[in-house]
Amino acid sequence: MPTTTRDDLAAFRAEVAEWCRTHIPADWRRAQTGVGDEEFVRFQKAWLHELRRAGFAVPHWPEEWGGGMSVARQIVLYQELARHDAPRLVLSFVSLHHAASTLLAAGTDEQRRRHLPAILDGEIWCQGFSEPEAGSDLAALKTTARREGDAFVVNGQKLWASGALHADWCLLLARTDPAAPKRRGISYFLMDMRSPGVEVRPIRQATGEAHFCEVFLDDVAVPAANLVGPENEGWRVAQETLGAERGMTMLELAERLGNGGFRWLVEQCARPGPDGTRPLDDPLVTDRLAALETELTGLRALCTDFVADDAPGPADASVVKLCYSELLQRLTDFATEATGLTAHTELRKPLSSGWESGAWVLDFIGSWEWTIPGGTSEIQRSIIGERGLGLPREPTGG
Ligand SMILES: Cc1cc2nc3c(=O)[nH]c(=O)nc-3n(C[C@H](O)[C@H](O)[C@H](O)COP(=O)(O)OP(=O)(O)OC[C@H]3O[C@@H](n4cnc5c(N)ncnc54)[C@H](O)[C@@H]3O)c2cc1C
Repeated sequence: MPTTTRDDLAAFRAEVAEWCRTHIPADWRRAQTGVGDEEFVRFQKAWLHELRRAGFAVPHWPEEWGGGMSVARQIVLYQELARHDAPRLVLSFVSLHHAASTLLAAGTDEQRRRHLPAILDGEIWCQGFSEPEAGSDLAALKTTARREGDAFVVNGQKLWASGALHADWCLLLARTDPAAPKRRGISYFLMDMRSPGVEVRPIRQATGEAHFCEVFLDDVAVPAANLVGPENEGWRVAQETLGAERGMTMLELAERLGNGGFRWLVEQCARPGPDGTRPLDDPLVTDRLAALETELTGLRALCTDFVADDAPGPADASVVKLCYSELLQRLTDFATEATGLTAHTELRKPLSSGWESGAWVLDFIGSWEWTIPGGTSEIQRSIIGERGLGLPREPTGG
């Protein structure tokens, strides 16, 4: 990674801030509130295109694929995008992080050439790992892939696949050797979501959104060329995807939480309510805000260290994910409490905003999502105990 001097960073910050002032669509929050799926997808792709033209879409990818930004610059970029309340690339989240990291670490040259530029053009990915009774115990998955000539024929059901409704491609785990111990007989595939036999059914959530879906697979033919890594070694490849989900993604999210959500919360607490008093006049409120800011500073330092480390420890990604998701929950919980009635009447959230949109009740409900995917908080604590601290392992049966 290139090094960056303090002056470089100040100039880069000014450049990004100017770009934000001239390129963030005015009033996008109002325009994205209550819109349908089609408009949401159109807006997301247009915003990806703008970021790409500026060189800001994939700062974390290697230089040859359009990234190569130093960690220090990435932090400045994410800080300025948050401060200027830029829309979020929520629809490309899995594509830009999970899919790209997996392809870069374990894909073939052909797979990288086929998909990385397409992702920058707006190709949308989902992750087909979880199944009924195979979430935390992911290695218990039952979807099968049977070799037939140059293809694998896939049958089974996936559950909770985020964004599957709009996805072009899926990161798919399926069992290729039913006789092998459960972690050894799994393979990792790239599956075209438009293949015959793929059926997607959205699941409506408490917030009204249908963010994730069930995916039914009935004799779906996946070309053998779409296998990632060797046959039956998909478990190892899946660790790359989970590592990206638990760690890399958090650098932007932590800066957004600090420079977006938390900043708005402080501003809201400084405004007088109908009786003329301000939440900030209450020492209990200032105490909680101070505690949250301290935690945020810690989280941001953890994320920076994780991303800058060429050889992170075996539990580092889990530490980052655990800290982010539980802090998001505490912050949105407190925001709902501190902003009182306002929080409870703001029940519409703009699409294309992130996990701290300022519609605090919806954000609080949504924050519970974060302690579950990519491994629940309990699972992250087990990983930290076993792989990080060397405590005795839980029996796995596989
Ligand atoms: C918002 C959201 C988005 C998601 N997106 C995707 C996606 O895109 N693709 C995808 O494949 N999946 C996705 N998931 C699924 C997610 O990865 C699983 O829900 C998760 O792994 C938990 O599995 P489970 O739901 O089967 O819960 P279970 O495994 O049944 O767990 C239930 C409870 O038991 C606890 N528990 C289970 N085993 C242990 C243990 N060994 N030790 C201690 N506690 C334990 C868990 O922590 C949890 O509290 C998503 C989930 C959510 C909520």
